[in-house]
Amino acid sequence: MSDLRFDNKVVVITGAGRGLGKAYAIFYGQMGAKVLVNDNGCDLDGKNTNPKFADEVVATIKSKGGIAVANYDSVLNGDKIIGHAIKEFGRLDVLINNAGILRDKILAKLTEEDWDIVVKTHLYGTYSVTKAAWPIMRDQGYGRIVNTSSGSGLYGTLGQTNYAAAKAGIVGFTLTLAKEGERRNILCNVLVPVGASRMTETIMPPDVLTGIDPNNLTPILAVLTHESNKEYNGGIYECSGGFFSKVRWQRTEGVSLDLPVKISEVQKNWAKINDFSGKNEYPTGNADLFNKVQENLERLEQQ
Ligand code: NAD
Repeated sequence: MSDLRFDNKVVVITGAGRGLGKAYAIFYGQMGAKVLVNDNGCDLDGKNTNPKFADEVVATIKSKGGIAVANYDSVLNGDKIIGHAIKEFGRLDVLINNAGILRDKILAKLTEEDWDIVVKTHLYGTYSVTKAAWPIMRDQGYGRIVNTSSGSGLYGTLGQTNYAAAKAGIVGFTLTLAKEGERRNILCNVLVPVGASRMTETIMPPDVLTGIDPNNLTPILAVLTHESNKEYNGGIYECSGGFFSKVRWQRTEGVSLDLPVKISEVQKNWAKINDFSGKNEYPTGNADLFNKVQENLERLEQQ
C-alpha cells in the first residue's frame, strides 16, 4: 500500500507550533497539503503569546517545498482561524483540533481560573473551530475531523480534573458530531495520543521520550483524514510509541428486575451487575439502553 497523499487538500491544525501538532503540520506539508499552522504560542499554562512557533513550522514546511501559512489566533476564535484558511486557500478539507494547555492541581487547590482556562481552551476551543468549519464541510459534502482527547479524559488522572473533564467532553462532542456528519460525508474521530512534547518531557525519562516521537502518530491521522477513509467514523483511537488501538464502551450483561425495584433485589444481583465475564454488550447509542428498558417492560407485561 502506498503512502497517502493530500495534494490540493487544505488542512487546518490548531496548536501546530510545537509538540504533536508541529509533527502533524510538517507531515501534511510533506504530503502535498496546504496547511494552516495555527498556534498562539502561549506558555504551557496558557499565559502569554508568541507568534514565532507557528512561523518556524511554516518556514520548515516551506523549506521542504510545501505550502503553509501561519495563524496566531486563539482557538477561542475559531471563526478567525477558519476564515484565514478560506481566505488563503479557498477551501477546507481536514481539521485537526489539537491545541491545549495544562493547569494541573488537585481539586482542593484548583482555582476557578484554572478550571475555566483549561476547559475553555480544550473543549470550547475544539467546539469553536469546529463550529466555524462545519458549514463549509456540510456545503461541500466532505470533511475529515480529528479531535484530541487524552487518557485523562477516558480514565481520569490525579491532579487533572479540569483537563480530564474537558478531554471527556471532547469525546462526547466528537461522537455526536460523527452521528451528525455522516450523511454529509464528514467523518469525525478522536485521537488519544501520548507523545514527546513539553507536556510529557518533565514526567517521562529521555529513552521513553525518544520512543514516543510524535512523528509516529501521523500515519493514523493520514488513514483517518484521507478521502479513502469512507467508513471509520466516531472512533476513539489510543496511539503511542508505535502502538495503535481502538477503545469502545462495554456494558455488563446486567439484570432486568421486577418493578417497583427493591433495594434487596439490587443487592442480590450486585455481583451480576458488576460482572464483565458474562455476555457483554458494546453500546454505541442511547437506543441500546432503551431497547433494554423495552425488553424488561414487555417481560413484565407477560407476567
Ligand atoms: P504542546 O504544549 O507541546 O503543544 C500545544 C500547542 O498548543 C502549543 O504550541 C500552544 O502554544 C498551543 N496552544 C495552546 N493554547 C492555544 C490557544 N488557545 N490557541 C492556539 N494555540 C494554543 O502540547 P502537546 O503535547 O503537543 O499536546 C497536543 C495535544 O495533545 C493537546 O490537546 C494535549 O492535551 C493532547 N495530548 C497530549 C499528550 C502527550 O503525551 N503529549 C497526551 C494526551 C493528550
